[in-house]
Amino acid sequence: MQAHWKVLLWMAGGLIVGLIMQWKLEAPAWSGSTWKATDQTGIELVSVEGPSAKSKLEVGRVYDRLIVDRGKSASGGAADEGGEGGGERTIALRTPADFVDAQAQAVNGQVLWLVLASDEQVTQPVALALGMEPDCPRARGIYWFAFAADIFMALLKMLIVPLVLSSIVSGVASVGALKDLRRLGVKTFAYYMGTSLLAIILGQVLVNVIRPGEGAQLGLSPSANAGERSENFIEILKRMVPDNVPTALTSNGAMLQIIFFALLLGYFITRTAEPHSSRIRNLFESFFQVMMRMAEGVLALLPYGVFALLVKVVASTGVEPFKALLLYMATVALALILHAGLTLPLVLKFVGRISPVAWFRAMSPALMTAFSTSSSSMTLPVTLRTVEERGKVSNKVTSFTLPLGATINMDGTALYECIGVIFLAQYYATLGGDPLSLSSQALVVLMALLASVGAAGIPSAGLVMMLTILSALNLPLEGAALLLAVDRPLDMMRTVVNVWSDSCGAAVIGKSEGEMEPLEAL
Ligand code: ASP
Repeated sequence: MQAHWKVLLWMAGGLIVGLIMQWKLEAPAWSGSTWKATDQTGIELVSVEGPSAKSKLEVGRVYDRLIVDRGKSASGGAADEGGEGGGERTIALRTPADFVDAQAQAVNGQVLWLVLASDEQVTQPVALALGMEPDCPRARGIYWFAFAADIFMALLKMLIVPLVLSSIVSGVASVGALKDLRRLGVKTFAYYMGTSLLAIILGQVLVNVIRPGEGAQLGLSPSANAGERSENFIEILKRMVPDNVPTALTSNGAMLQIIFFALLLGYFITRTAEPHSSRIRNLFESFFQVMMRMAEGVLALLPYGVFALLVKVVASTGVEPFKALLLYMATVALALILHAGLTLPLVLKFVGRISPVAWFRAMSPALMTAFSTSSSSMTLPVTLRTVEERGKVSNKVTSFTLPLGATINMDGTALYECIGVIFLAQYYATLGGDPLSLSSQALVVLMALLASVGAAGIPSAGLVMMLTILSALNLPLEGAALLLAVDRPLDMMRTVVNVWSDSCGAAVIGKSEGEMEPLEAL
């Protein structure tokens, strides 16, 4: 059986097993928090771990109210006092048992909102994400699948840094002449920025036409904690330059730094006199070949890894959190489908003169890996091999364009940033905030582009980057916390589009450089 059919079959199997586990095995909601009674009104948070660990709850603080059933309220205002009316309930917290009861009634995947006791008025509801209880039947069912999935992911992650470093260094060093390098660089950059911008503009148009944020019932408070500063873009640019190379190499998150160093190293190899130049170039080239062999070894496990990953993801995400965000998810999905199914094929056809259908068939192993890992970087070994072996693009082009693309070319992420931010802005505008002006929307477009460049090719990186844009626009960051509940399926889809665009880029550039053999019918 051909390898990609095998992967597809195991993927479908994983989906089915995951759904059966969803359906058959119970998974009570669990926040990982412990509470104690106080002599004030309210209960004190003693510790948080598990699914809530990332929320901004403060240990030692007293909370006196809890709001459940977000998304079902008619008013949409989580902070409404006594929001009984809309199906959203505000529960007074007097003893720790009140909290435990409320948690038991909530659904895994929901977000609860806790309100500070100290404030007379409700000002700062804090999100408490719910996961499943660690020892429930479903968690036990998932355990061994998660174990296998984690090992598979770790194997892929293990390859990222050595592969990116060796492929870029040997790629740039073998392109050799500065003139060639410049031409290849300019083409690659033009393709990456061009397609990302097309994606963002498509996202912007769709989100403005469909308007999923208007009247969405998310249960967020308009006053929630606006405009907290996170990292700005100048910082990201500055961070691109590593002050310590070994430190950069020890982190999968420091990809831009590694790329920066690798580009310089490759370039200066070509500027160094013989025999040193060829010695070190050969060394990196051999290292790259060995890493590719190693990647092949790891990829033999692909069907099983993909199976375990899908069981883990599908079984742990319930359907409940999706309801309120359905229209938003549909908008993102539609934009992704249009970009991947229309814009990029047109570029392939008219710029590259390559049949989009044949190219899509050839790329299927990489796309399936992207879908199940949600990570362009983890998919890189597969992308490199697929584009070279099935797509017949030369190593010279792939080793330069693909590692770069995995980090900086993210069309799916770019479009998602734009839709996510404008969606939240629409939502806050219906709660009384300012609607985004045209100039703010232009700013969103620009920032979505930068965010997609700055995002690492790892799961949920796009959502983290969204915080940067929200804070620049003075929108509450809680919005992004809510989107976390539905991030995984969107992440899987946008990663496919990211990898698809990288591969189309390699094809178009390979063709224009005369470095691509005609595709055989597959
Ligand atoms: N997971 C995506 C990728 O690796 C990045 C994102 O979160 O948008 O391509």
